Amino acid sequence: MNVQSIRGTHDILPGSVELWQTIEQNARELFRLYGYAEIRTPVLEETELFARSIGVETDIVQKEMYTLEDSKGKSITLRPEGTAPVVRSYIEHNLYANSQVTKLFYLGPMFRHERPQKGRYRQFHQIGAEVLGSDNPAVEAEVLHMLDRFLRGLGLSDFRLLVNSVGCQVCRPGYVALLREALRGRASELCAECQRRTETNPLRVLDCKTPECQPIINQLPSILDHLCQECRVHFDRFLEYLALQGIASETTPRLVRGLDYYLRTTFEIISDRLGPTQNALLGGGRYDGLSELIGGPPTKGFGFALGMERFVLLLSGRSELQAPYKAPAPELFLGYMGEPELQAALALAAGLRASGIFAYIDFEARSIKAQMRQANRMESKFTCVIGENELTTGAFHIKRMADGRQETVSKEEIVPYILKARETYGSAG
Ligand code: AMP
Repeated sequence: MNVQSIRGTHDILPGSVELWQTIEQNARELFRLYGYAEIRTPVLEETELFARSIGVETDIVQKEMYTLEDSKGKSITLRPEGTAPVVRSYIEHNLYANSQVTKLFYLGPMFRHERPQKGRYRQFHQIGAEVLGSDNPAVEAEVLHMLDRFLRGLGLSDFRLLVNSVGCQVCRPGYVALLREALRGRASELCAECQRRTETNPLRVLDCKTPECQPIINQLPSILDHLCQECRVHFDRFLEYLALQGIASETTPRLVRGLDYYLRTTFEIISDRLGPTQNALLGGGRYDGLSELIGGPPTKGFGFALGMERFVLLLSGRSELQAPYKAPAPELFLGYMGEPELQAALALAAGLRASGIFAYIDFEARSIKAQMRQANRMESKFTCVIGENELTTGAFHIKRMADGRQETVSKEEIVPYILKARETYGSAG
C-alpha cells in the first residue's frame, strides 16, 4: 500500500500556497501598523500547559490533544492552540519587563484530534495575536478594527462579528449555578453530552449544536442579565468603542467559547458560507488570569485566532488572489556540451542569481537538443548554449526565444544584457 498523508492533514501545493502567502504577508504588514511583533513558539509543549490553561473539562483537553510521552516519561503535547504557548513564553522570557503592554502575533500549525470534515482538520493553521498587559476595552476594539481591515483588505465582506461577555470570577459562578439549576430541571430533554456538561461545565451547553437542545437553550437565562457592575461597564464601553470605529457587531449572549480561560469580552467572526456548524472564521476574547494559571505574574490578556484553512476556503475562487499555478519561466536557460562547459555554466548561473536573475540548468537532459526542448517547455525568455568555442573565445550567443533573435556578448555583458532585456518582459518569472 502507498504511504499517504494522515487523515485530517493536508499538503498545501504550489498553486494553493500562493494564496496562503498573500494572507500571511497581508497579516504581517497590517499587524505591524498596530504594533505587533512576531513570535514563534515550539509546536511541542508540556501537556500541563494546556491542561491548566484551556481547562480539564473542555473538549480540547478531554479528547482532542495529541499527547505522547517522551523517553523520560514526561507528557508532551502537540499544541492545540497558540495563546497558552505565547503566554508561557511571555512569562519565561520576562517580556513584561520591557513595556507595560506587549503585542505579539504568530502563525503556524495547531493539532486537534477532531473528526475531519470540511473546515475542520487535525492539523490546521492559525494566525493569532495577543495583547498582554492591558484590560482596556479600547484595546479590544482596536483588535477588532485590525481584524476588520484585515478581512476587508483581502476582499471579504460577508462576515458577521458576534460579541458577548462571559463575566468574571465575581459574577460567573452565580450565573453558572443558575444555569445548572435550569438545566437540571430539563435534563431528560437534553442530549447525552449536555446532560454530562450540566454537571461538569454548564456554560458549554450554550454552544451545543444538537437540534433537540436548541429550544431549551433558547429559554435559558442570559449571562448578560447577570454581569457584575464592572463587567457590565467593561462590556458597554467595548461596544461603544466598536461603534465609534464604525464596526458593526451583534451581541450574542449564547456565545461562549471552547476554552475555559476566557472571561469578559468574547467574540467570533462567522461566515454563513462556511456552513452551519463550522461557521467560525476566527474567535477570541479576554483571558486575564491565564498567566497566573500557569505560574506567571498577574497579567491581563486579550487575543484572537483565525483559522487559515477556513479563510482560504472563503477566499478561494477569487481569481485576483489566486492565478492557476504555472511553474515560473527562467530568464536565462544555460545549455552545456560536456563537463568543462557544465562547470562554466554553474559559475555563470551563480553570477546571474547573485544579480537576481532566474537562471536554469537542466542536469538531466543529455543532448543539447533535449536541453533546448526543456527550455521551450519551461518558456525560458533566453537561452545560451556553452560549448568549447564559447569557452575559448569568451563570446556567448544569447538567443531570445520569442523570435529566435541572437546576439553575441562577452561573459561580463551577460548580466547587464538580461537585466536590460527584462524591461521588455517585466520582472523575473
Ligand atoms: P479556537 O482556537 O477553537 O478558538 O479556534 C479559532 C479558529 O481556528 C476557528 O474559528 C477556526 O477558524 C479555526 N479552527 C479551530 N479548530 C479547527 C480545526 N480543527 N480545523 C480547522 N480550523 C480550526
